[in-house]
Amino acid sequence: MSPMLRVNFPRLQADVEALAAIGRREDHGLYRMAFTDGDLQARAWLIERIHAAGLELYVDGAANIHARLDWDGVRPSVMTGSHLDTVPGAGHLDGALGVLVGLECLRTLKEAGVALSHPLEAVAFTDEEGRFGGMFGSQALCGRLTPEHIHTARDLDGIGIVEAMAARGLNAMDALRAQRRPESLHAFLELHIEQGPVLDRAGVKIGVVEGIVGLFKWNVRLLGAANHAGTTPMDLRRDAFQGLAEFAGEIPRILEEDGGTRSVATIGRVELIPGAANVVPGRAEFSLEARDTDPAVLERLGLAFRRALSAIARRRDLMFEFDVLSALEPVKCDPLVMHAITTAARALDASHMSLPSGAAHDTQMLAGLTRAGMIFVPSREGRSHSPAEWTAWEDIETGANVALNTLYALAR
Ligand SMILES: [Zn+2]
Repeated sequence: MSPMLRVNFPRLQADVEALAAIGRREDHGLYRMAFTDGDLQARAWLIERIHAAGLELYVDGAANIHARLDWDGVRPSVMTGSHLDTVPGAGHLDGALGVLVGLECLRTLKEAGVALSHPLEAVAFTDEEGRFGGMFGSQALCGRLTPEHIHTARDLDGIGIVEAMAARGLNAMDALRAQRRPESLHAFLELHIEQGPVLDRAGVKIGVVEGIVGLFKWNVRLLGAANHAGTTPMDLRRDAFQGLAEFAGEIPRILEEDGGTRSVATIGRVELIPGAANVVPGRAEFSLEARDTDPAVLERLGLAFRRALSAIARRRDLMFEFDVLSALEPVKCDPLVMHAITTAARALDASHMSLPSGAAHDTQMLAGLTRAGMIFVPSREGRSHSPAEWTAWEDIETGANVALNTLYALAR
């Protein structure tokens, strides 16, 4: 076997630290939501780093920033990348680490002067975290955006992505031109922090992601009758909250009977109307979200939830309605990419295990376009979307070296 390549770790560490200072609000974490000042500063900083590395810069119509090595526009590329944008109050590694490791891998391969059969691209995708809905850049690249989608994408303050990009001198409609042909790509790899506790608990350094969970999100309403809490006898009530409580209590049983071993379901938001201590609630409105890596399991769960809600509604003289807010198909990672990750981890003597991703990532989009895979590095105590987000430097180094050798194996 050929000797393993290694990244320049002090250089990567310096980049991680420099980027972690951009968009920071003292103890409150990072604020780099798409097209805010923090995001713009991070973009400018990355472009400067790409120039300094002597790599080719390309910014596509969706404002995705590409660093390119050996690009000729003919051969299909091996792409890696993640996102620079953050949720409000974020940690410094979610997304950023994947972008910086990608950049470092290209720099290392350029310096090594190795011959490549495939050009390499390291990409920072636009609005992964969802100020305007999420995965804007990777959806654009995969040809999943429509003009209508672009016109209607708004943030919580009602600002459209069209306005937000125009304020930065960009035309959001250009995102439709960012689409890549499947033939222009050979493979895609994303390194990301796990954002869960599995690797940290197991003391394992590398997660080989086998698939990304799909999900459905419903808005459910149980409708009864609001009434006086003192004068309405218990047996004459049409109490919407009691229906909701009974359903919530049945979720563990439904998951056990109809779910897979890793299925999860959550009621994360509840509203009772009218919402007073002395009124029987006539209406309960709540979110219901379920995730699994198997589309058949998701379908079974959807059916089981509907059945349980109908039965409860019938028994308690309530009406049951629901709207599907979103549904995302699970994706499987590509065996060739998974094999390349495992081989690199083994050769570097890095402990590894396969696991699913419970969070959505740009890879979910790229998997529809090319063979795609993901590397997870451990998140201390599984913390993420918080300033407490942390991965040990030596784990970052191990992950970067596995990514480097995986990319090289795919591109050589
Ligand atoms: Zn992320």
